Amino acid sequence: MLRHALRRRCPVCGAPGIFQGWFTLRPRCPRCNFSFEREEGYWVGALIANIAVAELLFAAVFLGGVVFTWPDVPWLPLGILGVVAMVVLPVAFYPLSKTLWLWVDLAFLHPLDADDLSAND
Ligand SMILES: [Zn+2]
Repeated sequence: MLRHALRRRCPVCGAPGIFQGWFTLRPRCPRCNFSFEREEGYWVGALIANIAVAELLFAAVFLGGVVFTWPDVPWLPLGILGVVAMVVLPVAFYPLSKTLWLWVDLAFLHPLDADDLSAND
């Protein structure tokens, strides 16, 4: 399932094409009919993970830049790089945060059951 999630595929069956665009996940998997939004407010965990990854990468890049260039730290380029990274990373990571959240939920929190694949909910 993790391999499917990392490839932005359905974590249940591995079907590609579960996104209609970069930001829009289809309501159900076109192959196995798995409902991606498993409950109301389901994507809060994905958003938190997305923000956390962006913040951690920013901190790593910024602190790494300071450490490796000390004592002549290029503050302005480092600041600009940080701002650009804070805008680009959450957008770039957005679809992956959703498929990874589905994987976490299925693997550790709420395993798959028959209702997830029924067409009626
Ligand atoms: Zn599927």
